[in-house]
Amino acid sequence: MATERLYYDDSYLTTFSAHVVNRRTESGHIMIALDRTAFYPEGGGQPADRGRLAGIAVLDVQVDAEGAIWHTLAEPVGSEEVTGEIDWPRRLDHMQQHHGQHILSAAFEDLFGLKTISFHLGAESSTIDLSGPLVGATQLDAAEGLANTLIWEDRPVFARFVDLTELATIRLRKPPTVTGPVRVVSVTEFDHSACGGTHPRATGMVGLLHIRRHEKRGTDTRVEFVCGARALRDLRNKHALLVRVAAQASVGLDELEEAVARLRSGEASLRKQLDQAVAELDQYEAVRLAAEAERVRDIPVVRLVLEGRTVAQVQSLARAIVGQEAIAILGLRGEKAHLLLARPPRVECDCGKLVSEVTKEFGGRGGGQPGMAQGGIPKPGDMEAAIERAAGRIRAHLESPGAP
Ligand SMILES: [Zn+2]
Repeated sequence: MATERLYYDDSYLTTFSAHVVNRRTESGHIMIALDRTAFYPEGGGQPADRGRLAGIAVLDVQVDAEGAIWHTLAEPVGSEEVTGEIDWPRRLDHMQQHHGQHILSAAFEDLFGLKTISFHLGAESSTIDLSGPLVGATQLDAAEGLANTLIWEDRPVFARFVDLTELATIRLRKPPTVTGPVRVVSVTEFDHSACGGTHPRATGMVGLLHIRRHEKRGTDTRVEFVCGARALRDLRNKHALLVRVAAQASVGLDELEEAVARLRSGEASLRKQLDQAVAELDQYEAVRLAAEAERVRDIPVVRLVLEGRTVAQVQSLARAIVGQEAIAILGLRGEKAHLLLARPPRVECDCGKLVSEVTKEFGGRGGGQPGMAQGGIPKPGDMEAAIERAAGRIRAHLESPGAP
């Protein structure tokens, strides 16, 4: 039996009495159907109401194929007569988001001919998908502006059932998905949509509509927005974030943008100075390493495992070592192992080929130029053995230059 939907006539009704007409338990959930209800069942992109029936919490509300509305309860209810109470803050929030969607969809269609193909009312924000290509910032501003103008004009909103004869005379924005008499929700001189949802008496109750962002979805566009108390909360959160960031930068809000630009350019200049200082330190380190290194045919061969440096820093040190007419065999140990080989021009071995072969022996891969090459080895524990292998190949080459 279809349940009489009290919210159709009065979406502000928060208490009501009704008869229990059916009961069932499904997957451990206790459910009852009533002869009439003010609870909105999930549908049309809008979540179900919450509240209480006979003082027991209502956890979910769904409608079945026959139009019976089932209330899922936290505990069983014994009596045949129940009084219901709707969780009004939640309902008000849903009405603000839902009716805000009607207005925003109408604004996009009127201004740019973009039709709404779907709507989702989420816990944080809502989205509509527009059938059409990416809308730009000016289009978003215009639609948001028109929607808020309509909200502040506080235009009356009517919801009523019309028969098919009358329906043919109304220019519906959203066509009906049901047969028989159709419920039409109208905003005076602006919009007529077929809808079974809960709506305010006038557009002003939506309060404020704020578009948060938009994104491309294939050939369509998704627009995310918030209305009413959610819009206020969103703007408060953003404002609080700006105030915190400004306090960290020790400036006022109006100076924040300039302060961030200053910090970024300061960071770039410090980075440059740091790179110069590291390059100078590399020179000192290279002189020491070349002097202390083992010599093969009078050429210093520097072997060293490093940690906590970047690959770019290891490359910089390798170049400084080569500047000392020495060969560099450097390992960088991190989550993986990195092997780098570099040689001065007077040594003729092919570093690219040598690194490729040595890293391959240890299950890795690498390569590069004849003068400098690098590669990765999966196991950091193999680092010393790989360096030893590379050093052996270099030694063989220096002692017998025909070798690879
Ligand atoms: Zn609606």
